[in-house]
Parts: sequence; C-alpha cells; structure tokens
Amino acid sequence: MEHAVVIAGGGPTGLMLAGELALAAVDVAIVERRDSQELAGSRAGGLHARTIEVFDQRGIADRFLSEGKVAQVAGFAGVHFDISDFPTRHPYGLGLWQNHIERILADWVGELEVPIHREREVTGFAQEDDGVDIELSDGESFRADYLVGCDGGRSVVRKTAGIEFPGWDPTTSSLIAEAEFAEEPELGIRHDALGTHAFGREEYEIRDGEVVFSDHGPVRVMVTEEHVGSTTDPTLRDLSEALIAVYGTDYGIHDPTWISRFTDMSRQAAAYRDRRVLLAGDAAHVHYPVGGQGLNIGVQDAVNLGWKLAQVVKQTSPESLLDTYHAERHPVAARVLRNTMAQVALSRPDDRIKAAGEVVSELLGMDEPRRRFAAEVSGLGIHYDLGEGHPLLGRRIPDLDLVTADGPLRLFTLLHEARPELLNLGEPGGFDITPWADRVRLIDATYEGAWELPALGAVTAPTAVLIRPDGYVAWVGEETELGLADALATWFGPPAPA
Ligand SMILES: Cc1cc2nc3c(=O)[nH]c(=O)nc-3n(C[C@H](O)[C@H](O)[C@H](O)COP(=O)(O)OP(=O)(O)OC[C@H]3O[C@@H](n4cnc5c(N)ncnc54)[C@H](O)[C@@H]3O)c2cc1C
Repeated sequence: MEHAVVIAGGGPTGLMLAGELALAAVDVAIVERRDSQELAGSRAGGLHARTIEVFDQRGIADRFLSEGKVAQVAGFAGVHFDISDFPTRHPYGLGLWQNHIERILADWVGELEVPIHREREVTGFAQEDDGVDIELSDGESFRADYLVGCDGGRSVVRKTAGIEFPGWDPTTSSLIAEAEFAEEPELGIRHDALGTHAFGREEYEIRDGEVVFSDHGPVRVMVTEEHVGSTTDPTLRDLSEALIAVYGTDYGIHDPTWISRFTDMSRQAAAYRDRRVLLAGDAAHVHYPVGGQGLNIGVQDAVNLGWKLAQVVKQTSPESLLDTYHAERHPVAARVLRNTMAQVALSRPDDRIKAAGEVVSELLGMDEPRRRFAAEVSGLGIHYDLGEGHPLLGRRIPDLDLVTADGPLRLFTLLHEARPELLNLGEPGGFDITPWADRVRLIDATYEGAWELPALGAVTAPTAVLIRPDGYVAWVGEETELGLADALATWFGPPAPA
C-alpha cells in the first residue's frame, strides 16, 4: 500500500501529526500497535496553556476543556506558578488524563478520515532516494514518501535509522499502579529520603486550587523504588515490597489493574531527521515526568512538523524546510530535559540540596523569574530563533480580537485550517502577495487592543504579521514590506511564476 506519509505510532504525537497532515490534504496513515486507543495505565495528567492554545488554533480546545478541570498546573521544583495574569485566553492548565486526551484526538483524526492500521507494528524500513519501504509485523509493507517515528521512547524507527540517543542513565525509579487495597491508604503525597510517593484516585475535583480526591473509585499509587535498574516488567510483589519499604505496610494491595515503571532517564535524539525519516514526541526525547511536559512538547513537535512536511510532500517547499524542524524543536526538548534533571536533583534528600531548593524557591517567588519560568513550562514563552527583529518574530501570535470587513473575528479562528496568513493591520489593500496567493491568505483587519506577550509584557504594535500554520510569527511589518518576500519564500516556497 502507498501513502505520502506513514506515521509509526498513534499516541498523542502521532495523532496530532496525522490531524495536521490531513488538514493540509496530505495522504497520511497511522500504524499503531494497540488494538484500540485504550491505555493500560495512567500517564499524562493534563495539558499546559500553550497546548490548549494549539488545540484552540484548530478549533478543538473546547472538546478538551469541557471534559477536564481547569487549574494552575505549571510549577518548578515544588513551587506552583499562578499564570492567571498571563496575556492569553487560556491562562491556566487542564487536568485531564492521557486516555481521554488520546480519545478526543483520535475522534478528531477519525473525522479527518485518517486511516489507522491497528494491531500492527512497524518492524523496520529501508530508505531510498525517492521513498521509504516500511515493514509491518503482519508481513505486509507500505511505501511512503516519508516515515515519521511517533513510536515512543523505545522507538523502533529511531533505532532502525541508527539515530544516536545520547543522554543520562536513570538515577531514580518509580512504580505506578492502580489496585485494590484491603486497608484504605492515606491519600496524598509523601516525601522522604527515597523520594516522592503518592496515593490518589482517578476521580478528583479542584477546590480552591487544591486537588480533592473522590471518596470512591480505584486507588492509584506511585512509589519510588529502593533500587534503580530493574529490567524486568514490574510485578505485584515489587509493588508490595516498595510500599513496605516506604510506608511500613502494603495496605493489603491486591488485584492491580495495571502496574508500570518510569525513571528519570533523560535522552534526546541527536538528529530529528535522517533524510526521509523523522522523529517526534517521546521517540525524540525522554525525561522524568515532573512538571508534566512530555505529552505537551510531543503535540507541539507535531504541530511544528505537520505543515512543513505537508509543503515538502506537495513540493511547494524544498526539503531543506524540514531542517528547521530540528533547529526549532531540538532546543525546546533540550530545555525540558534540563529543567526536569534540575528538578530531580533538587528533590534529593540532602540538607545542602534542600538549601539549594529553598534558594530556588525564594528566587521563583520573585515576579520576573516566576514569569520567565512559568512562560517556559507552560510553553507560552517558546521563541524560535528566526533572527533579529521585533519581539514577536519566532513567538506565538496572541489570539487577538480582530475586526474584519465581515465583522469581529478571533485570530485563532483564522488558523483552524492550518494555513499561513498575512494579517494586514494597516491600510486595507496595502499588500500584494499574488505570487503566493495560492498558499497564503491575506486578511485586512483592525485591532484596537494592547500587544502583550507572556513574560515579555507590552511590545510595539506591528502593522502586519506573517503567521505560520503553527501559530508562530514568521515576519513582522512595521510600516514597510521590507523582508516580506524573503520570509514568504523561506517559509512557503518560491513565488509562483507570473
Ligand atoms: C507516569 C507518567 C506521567 C506523565 N505525566 C505527564 C504529564 O502530566 N504531562 C505530560 O505532558 N506528559 C506526561 N507524561 C509523558 C507522556 O505520557 C508522554 O510524553 C507521551 O505519551 C508521549 O506521547 P507520544 O505519542 O510521543 O508517545 P507514546 O505515548 O509512547 O505513544 C507511542 C505510540 O506508538 C505505539 N507504538 C510503539 N512502537 C510502535 C511500532 N513499532 N509500531 C507501531 N506502533 C508503535 C504505541 O503503542 C503508542 O501508542 C507522563 C509519563 C509518565 C510515564
């Protein structure tokens, strides 16, 4: 079978990428090992503000918001950040378990009619100059122009491509499970010399900013293990022993629904692309889950890559556009690896580390550091290096309340179809982009409000902005068109012949 793009793995990253490619009318298919979107085990607990914005850019944020719990979720090393003063329509995060996030994404991808070939694995591939032959576990094979490995931390695609995955071995290991208990354990978090441990329930409410667990339903446990490096699948016995070591009892644990293990192993792919093969999400970066960032940056990798890959597949842009994917996204995950490693270090039970943690927490209590760190972990402060210029360049466009000839319009509505936009806020009719008119939409609008960016504050009002399909600003006009033609060609391909 042939597809323009085959995605290995239909987790959050693969699903988002499939949606982005389908919006661009690219023939894409997912190959997924699991027989349904059901997840064995809980993983991510929710979304950060930028990911909610990214979904809003596609018109699907309400699907998540209506099922989750809005809360202040950003934090660093035990310091909670309140981002309610940030200039965004969504100055908060969302508590929503990963199985629900995946279900909502899978429904969206289903509406976009992306085929998902389930209960099949990508087992290998061979790259040629003009395509990739992809082997599947059922003996079939696919031919594609591009293969994207969204197949998680143990990515077969990454390994087969021979892409290095340098980083750091684990220093701490935790078990996480859902089970029945003969005795009711005390719900909540405990810190001790071994690390952090917690009991909770799947169902909870947020009251006055605090998590309040339901008094019924399955109990979930997370417990740090005494030893790192176990290579076998975790068992009920491992869990019982770990609980006894920390709590002095295993509370009569029995009948686990699932048990899994995670560590603070931190690794990142040395290259996000090898010719016709790309990596995104956990396949490209793994780290400790503290701060709840992994799923978020995976989804945002997908949104960065989708439109670029679509343009290359359609031959409107040269292959070199794909190099900007690594250039922009590798540094973002590198910072997440750094901030999670720092948080693991600061949680160590040593008086001097504790003192360092207190200093960090004092610093983060100050407004400027809070704003910077909160902008970073919420994803709202991401800045792609697109060169010198106006502060908006390489940053997310805010969801402005515009007025057009057709009436009021939220800027994010313009991005629903994942197409590039040139927003002219100056004299109507002041631009002529005919050579790109088949690819870039020109919108004349007015905007009366302030221009404010998270962490940076007020910036000068531009007279025009070129917005990429991922919502990042590719060019800023300040009274002139200087640099616009170059930016259009760089991001959306050479001008069409007259
Ligand atoms: C305990 C824990 C808590 C976490 N909490 C958070 C949080 O609060 N917030 C957050 O943002 N992140 C969190 N994370 C991280 C988050 O779960 C991951 O970053 C996220 O799942 C990555 O998505 P992905 O699609 O890249 O990879 P995955 O979710 O791993 O998906 C990969 C998919 O590929 C499939 N697959 C694998 N190999 C193949 C193959 N060869 N062929 C076909 N299919 C294949 C798998 O079945 C799977 O569906 C947490 C992780 C853990 C372990």
